[in-house]
Amino acid sequence: MSESERLREVVTRAYRHSPFLRAKWSAAGTVPQPWSEEVFARLPFMTKDDLRRGYPDGLLAVDWREVAVVHESSGTTGQPTSSLFTAQDIDEWLDRMLLNGVGLGPEDVVLVKTPYSMLSTAHQMHGAAQRAGAAVVPAGNRTELMPYSRVLRLLRDYRVSVAYCMPVELMLFARRALADGLRPGTDFPALRAAVVNGEMLSPAKQRFLEELWSIRLFPDYGSTETTTLGGACTFGTLHLWSDRFHFEVLDEAAGTCSAYGTGELVVTSFHRQAMPIVRYRMGDVVTVSESACSCGSARPQVRVHGRAADRFRVGDRELFPIDVEDTVYGALLGCEPVFWTGALDGNVLRLSLEGTDSGTAELGRRTDALTAELAERLGLRADIRVVPPGTQMTLDRRAEQEAMFKPVYLHLGRAEGRGLEYTGSR
Ligand SMILES: [Zn+2]
Repeated sequence: MSESERLREVVTRAYRHSPFLRAKWSAAGTVPQPWSEEVFARLPFMTKDDLRRGYPDGLLAVDWREVAVVHESSGTTGQPTSSLFTAQDIDEWLDRMLLNGVGLGPEDVVLVKTPYSMLSTAHQMHGAAQRAGAAVVPAGNRTELMPYSRVLRLLRDYRVSVAYCMPVELMLFARRALADGLRPGTDFPALRAAVVNGEMLSPAKQRFLEELWSIRLFPDYGSTETTTLGGACTFGTLHLWSDRFHFEVLDEAAGTCSAYGTGELVVTSFHRQAMPIVRYRMGDVVTVSESACSCGSARPQVRVHGRAADRFRVGDRELFPIDVEDTVYGALLGCEPVFWTGALDGNVLRLSLEGTDSGTAELGRRTDALTAELAERLGLRADIRVVPPGTQMTLDRRAEQEAMFKPVYLHLGRAEGRGLEYTGSR
């Protein structure tokens, strides 16, 4: 079936069975009958707001008897958004999750260390690992039941081979390991890889964590609404699952979409039954390019820059927080775990670096080189402080047990971020 025929099937089904989308498209004067590719290009975008308006089941396109699971996106504040899936949807997402180059098999023990509560993330990996014949250690998010001392015990005693978590967690596990007299790179010999998602990951931070733990990282990209949209191949390149989704790159200024280039990612699922995803704006700015990867896959490559709202300008450069992160970790490769936060005021970056007891002196020796890199690569004038361990990142074991949210590393002045708060307090 051609791409156009697959899209026709998806859109026709959504038009017939999803009253929400039918009403939305009709209100926009775009009725997908008769079908043409030109009609598809005029269908209004689905947004997070549609999901809020459709809560709890307005976007449902099947009978409730066919719904197998209900997920919600993090929604700790504001109105929740629901994501509904049939058994067939789950079957497809588990299959898709195994496209990642980590290559799970019966010999693997997989620590699932992302939230199970309402999000789809943990359930995706939990089911996929079991499907591959691996054993699952279902640790879940940080709670009073899952302090880091317990995570380290699970990693060692069950000889975990693959960890599934946010990148920042690998930094936190390592800090606790060092504080407990363990070396991350040598005292966890069974650990071979980590599949990471849930926050941005720059190439330099990826390398930093790979060297720290002597493992390989396999980023996964997606959301609770869409489940996984792409993952790293065996060569470490992030590819989009283009056989499962139709991807478009939206140039918002020009109002046009194309298959490749830089802009906001727009996705249409070829398979989703319970809740059709048609031209859904992810809110992330990406660069999609044709595959030129040694793995031989025809799936396009993608670089995820960050949320459109987090883009900022320094002189004539357009930057994202991930560019700062990449420069920071690039200058600190080989160091012990280090946490950074920054506040941006014009082209002045006030940067705090927090290391470990044994790693703080080395951070002090790297600051001149980092200052030079920030100026050269990003045009930023940096004011760097190396703060004592425990300043931003509590070392208190009780606080380490509180729920963790996505950290915000760079404060841009206009947006109220939560900052680098690794506890539930907001
Ligand atoms: Zn590849």
